[in-house]
Amino acid sequence: LTTLLDVKDLVVEFRMPEGRLRAPDGVSFHVKPREILGVVGESGSGKSVTALAIMGLIPHPPGKIVSGTLLFQGQDLQAQIQKIRGKEISMVFQNPLNSLNPSLKIGLQLTEVLVEHLHTSQTEADERTIDLMKKLGIPEPQALMRCYPFEYSGGMRQRIMIAMAMLCNPTFMIADEPTTALDVTIQAQILHLFQQLREEFRTSILYITHDLSVVSQIADRVLVMYAGKIVEHAQTERIFANPLHPYTQGLIRSIPGATSEGAKRLSSIPGNVPGLIHPPPGCRFHPRCAEVMDVCRHEIPPDFQVEGTSVACWLYKE
Ligand code: SF4
Ligand code: MG
Repeated sequence: LTTLLDVKDLVVEFRMPEGRLRAPDGVSFHVKPREILGVVGESGSGKSVTALAIMGLIPHPPGKIVSGTLLFQGQDLQAQIQKIRGKEISMVFQNPLNSLNPSLKIGLQLTEVLVEHLHTSQTEADERTIDLMKKLGIPEPQALMRCYPFEYSGGMRQRIMIAMAMLCNPTFMIADEPTTALDVTIQAQILHLFQQLREEFRTSILYITHDLSVVSQIADRVLVMYAGKIVEHAQTERIFANPLHPYTQGLIRSIPGATSEGAKRLSSIPGNVPGLIHPPPGCRFHPRCAEVMDVCRHEIPPDFQVEGTSVACWLYKE
């Protein structure tokens, strides 16, 4: 099997009092076995909604998948997600405190997953959980099982969440900004943990972040999203060595020290992500693009293939 998850032309629509908003709007990508795919973009680009669509967790109303296909191991994902969520596919969110129940001991919360999904006995679930935490380098797991979430730091709570997401040994994990609330040292440890999951447990990971430098440390391939669309898609080294889309170029320039002229051009990209109820016509990036041409204002750029990179920008038309 060369493709684990296959997403084609995914459109999620939200019906708001002000109008309809579409993000993601026609997004296609795939995830291979044992791969870490990074998804990068500013907030409002549709990254998290894409993740929620895969998980079958779009709040309805106001949201709904209005078109597209989602295949997981060749099967229609939407038809089976209730059965496989938490088992084959799991998710780690940004804020571990929102995901952990503050009034329940950590051990009970962790083992609930096993007892519920795999119908193991409590003793067996305890053993398996402690064993996994040891593998994940969580110190003194026996004691931890008897504690409440508030007794631990943010970094440790996030590790606990990752352990929880790993308990059923999922094939595929989605991590949505899992290190955003953490300081840099803890972030590095958590990133290492994800790499370990891929190596030891052969888990494929969709790693969502607004931070391109995080993606450079962890992802094999990168999707860059802007205003509900994928604007560039390539191998990680290639994105950094030769970014093609003006938006990606801007993102890379805004990483401190990323380019030789980085210090001079510590430019973040001027302007904001457009409102998506009335997105700009043509290329959605055109109001912010320094290289805008006439065609950009009227026609949506298709994906052009340039030496292994897929880029949605008129600059790359033959
Ligand atoms: Fe800029 Fe045009 Fe490319 Fe959009 S299509 S990124 S406006 S050059
Ligand atoms: Mg988000």
